[in-house]
Amino acid sequence: MIFSPEKLMIRDQRMKPFIDARELWGFINTTPATKEKVREVIAKSLDKNRLTLAETAILINASDPELIEEIKQGARTLKEKVYGQRIVLFAPLYIGNLCTNNCAYCGFKASNKKITRVTLDHDDLISQVKALEDSGQKRLILVFGEHPKYDAKFIADSVRTVYSVKSGNGEIRRVNINAAPMEIDGFRIIKDARIGTYQIFQETYHQETYAKVHLGGQKRNYDWRLTGLDRAQEAGIDDIGIGALFGLYDWRFEVLGLVRHTNHFEAVYNVGPHTISFPRIQYASELNLDKSHLVSDEEFTRLVAILRLAVPYTGLILTARETAAIRDEIMQFGVSQIDGGTNIEMGGYSKRKENEEQDIDLEQFQINDNRSLNEIMDDLIEHKYIPSFCTACYRLGRTGEHFMEFSVPGFIKRFCQPNALMTLVEYLEDYAPEDTKVKGYQLVREKLDEIEDETFKARLTDKISMIKEGKRDLYF
Ligand code: SAM
Ligand code: SF4
Repeated sequence: MIFSPEKLMIRDQRMKPFIDARELWGFINTTPATKEKVREVIAKSLDKNRLTLAETAILINASDPELIEEIKQGARTLKEKVYGQRIVLFAPLYIGNLCTNNCAYCGFKASNKKITRVTLDHDDLISQVKALEDSGQKRLILVFGEHPKYDAKFIADSVRTVYSVKSGNGEIRRVNINAAPMEIDGFRIIKDARIGTYQIFQETYHQETYAKVHLGGQKRNYDWRLTGLDRAQEAGIDDIGIGALFGLYDWRFEVLGLVRHTNHFEAVYNVGPHTISFPRIQYASELNLDKSHLVSDEEFTRLVAILRLAVPYTGLILTARETAAIRDEIMQFGVSQIDGGTNIEMGGYSKRKENEEQDIDLEQFQINDNRSLNEIMDDLIEHKYIPSFCTACYRLGRTGEHFMEFSVPGFIKRFCQPNALMTLVEYLEDYAPEDTKVKGYQLVREKLDEIEDETFKARLTDKISMIKEGKRDLYF
């Protein structure tokens, strides 16, 4: 269907494109970063306030190494003070790589004749989900190319199939989606399948760059994509994820674009995005790109710390596009979710053998962290993070969970941390090898010892004993 902004605007005045490049550049060009200003802005964020565009621009403009370090330290402090040590784990599952678009950066682009095109059928999907459950996964994001075959009904059916698969004690408790934007009615159909988050990345908020890298298909329409998540909201999906693909245009502009997108949702729907993603461009089959805006590791670290301070109550997702070393480094600045045991080859979860080379003609792009889920669990536990598969808020209808974590005193202590520990114990019982189990239970004991409220500690200890005896899916 051809998108007509005029038609849409008549239907809903809220779906007006809201990015003004001159306004965003105006902030970057007119807000110098003095020491006092930078410190004031960090303090505002640590005081639990979202930053304005002008304040975010001050952090972006800080170039003195000492101030950059203060920004990073601010992000670390915010993470430690507010969120504690939990990291939520998920896995992406590619359902189909047919695509009618021609995104210059993506291996799935229609013009790429080298890539093998696959859509998982019902049985393939079931075996992928079983393989994922057998490794311990509880949360998935289903990923689709943009193609008429992957309409709302197809996506909703895939979600239902995923929820229906049970293997041993395994089940998927939350299914998120990364797919093309739809009409409002399409989003309604998908919502009815009980999805978690619907993610759409704008890729670049800069309209001219957007036109240069989107060379064919519906995705060429910047406004249709930009207003996609507004239509999701109109359909009742209030759990949404935004993102920018870093490396297409100036990272400073994209950071402000993400903050502007967040402000837009807060102003119009009274709820910001659930998550922000900030993928960096990775090598892909037939990659064809201007490389002048690629983001260095140093800039990447900086921009994640700035985002953490700018939107303190939004989840931040860091994927296996990045190496283990970068992920370890960046997690301390407030990342809340990472993928683990990731395999983006079509059908890859049930057939990939350990340490097998990636085949770039089967994948959308190259990933750089090929560790298994258990290797990631080991690493998190060793670094004293609490790996979490928790899905309690979503299943109890407690939406806006990041906001609650952030704003409701004691919420993390009462709900998030104990629930994370219970999902960790489930993992240790059902999937962990002996050495992970030993390390994992050591961490659980340390965390239980930190709980001061003896009554609550006893309740949690009881629940943990029930899990050891075979009960599953307990939460507060
Ligand atoms: N086809 C849907 C779409 O375009 O929204 C689904 C998303 S695509 C399969 C998932 C995301 O991967 C894209 O939104 C893009 O940001 C990211 N991506 C594409 N090519 C990439 C590359 N070469 N390196 C890193 N990320 C890439
Ligand atoms: Fe297709 Fe999405 Fe890849 Fe673009 S990013 S070519 S729309 S799969």
